Amino acid sequence: MSGFQYRNGQLYCEGVSVTKLVEQHGTPLWIYSKNELLSRLREIQTAFAEVDPVVCYSVKANGSLGILRTMALAGSSFDVVSGGELFRVKKAGADTTKVVFAGVGKTDEEIRFALECNILKFDVESEAELDAIAFVAKSLGTVGRVALRLNPDIDAKTHVKTTTGKKGNKFGMDIERASQLAEKVLKNQYLSLSGIHMHLGSPILTTDPYEAAAKKAVEVVREYRSKGHPIHWINLGGGFGISYRKNEGLPASEYAKVIVPHVKEAGCRLTLEPGRYIAGNSGILATQIVFKKQEGGKTFLIQDGGMNDLIRPAMYDSFHRLWPVAPKVAMPEDVEGEIAGCEKVDVVGPICESSDYFAKDRYLPPMERGDLLCTFSAGAYGTAMSSNYNAKPLAAEVLVDGETAKLIRRRQTYEELVSLETAE
Ligand SMILES: *Cc1c(COP(=O)(O)O)cnc(C)c1O
Repeated sequence: MSGFQYRNGQLYCEGVSVTKLVEQHGTPLWIYSKNELLSRLREIQTAFAEVDPVVCYSVKANGSLGILRTMALAGSSFDVVSGGELFRVKKAGADTTKVVFAGVGKTDEEIRFALECNILKFDVESEAELDAIAFVAKSLGTVGRVALRLNPDIDAKTHVKTTTGKKGNKFGMDIERASQLAEKVLKNQYLSLSGIHMHLGSPILTTDPYEAAAKKAVEVVREYRSKGHPIHWINLGGGFGISYRKNEGLPASEYAKVIVPHVKEAGCRLTLEPGRYIAGNSGILATQIVFKKQEGGKTFLIQDGGMNDLIRPAMYDSFHRLWPVAPKVAMPEDVEGEIAGCEKVDVVGPICESSDYFAKDRYLPPMERGDLLCTFSAGAYGTAMSSNYNAKPLAAEVLVDGETAKLIRRRQTYEELVSLETAE
């Protein structure tokens, strides 16, 4: 959380006071630290330098144009999972020739768009998709570069809704089927197999799953090469965990330790698709307490930000560190459990759903109507998953660089909420 610090009892993003930003832009407000984003990217680039990595920032974690532009200028490439995300990458002025495209349901239109953008490769998730890429590539008179997405049947021990590399979920293919598809590629002049892909799930807070995946990758690369495929790339996806609670996140160098030797052994270059690792702790959500309500033996802090802004607690039971922007008690290292001088509250949003909460039975310094609250570690899967549910406009986003702050998305208006619709 080094982009965000308390100074003289006030929360700052780099050199800018969060209270000042809220006075200017209102709440709920997403605030990002540019230097935190860049240092997380650099950390990965450095940790894996030995295998000449192409770091493809995962657009789905946070695809705001201002963020994509920042990443592109720092030498990041991109991992996309839809035509819309590829459009965002293009709009941000990034080079599309280093983009990788995953996802189980790519439509012909999306495949065509990606071929026209000359992306680096498709991460192919099924035989039908491979056929579709060949078909579209033929119609354009081009060759689709593909990597096969393997399901290595590794349990990454994440939340049931975020594990992807275990047998029985919709992503990738088992190794035997992938081998059959590799045969098919050899016979098709409109396809070229240049790599293999695995993405195990997210967030992963141990290195073992990556080590197991990297070992499998070496075997598969050998097999494909022996059959005549020009395999240059191992893509181990994203999923590196971060510190949501305390210091549970591992540095990128720990993951590198178990991955790099195997990639070297295979004689491949490495692609990674980190999203959360880069964006997660580079962003916060600032909200305002609308009401404090006592009911049924509980105290509720009702804030203006809700599951429409940040759905992670409702969707994944995820834990976010919360603390006031101008706290009466300094934030301790450990915010779980009882804290002296604090009261036990549920922090909830305004949305008409019981699952609209940010924290339950959490100890927070006394807060009143009008006070500002910060939700930390909200940079990834925050605004990216936000919606207009309950006709709440999308919140504004600010990118801070040292002493300056730039509005990278203004708040949506009521008129814009209905601008695509007609009552005629
Ligand atoms: C979601 C996703 C990622 C990014 O995961 P993080 O946990 O944000 O690093 C990378 N690759 C694929 C294919 C994904 O679906």
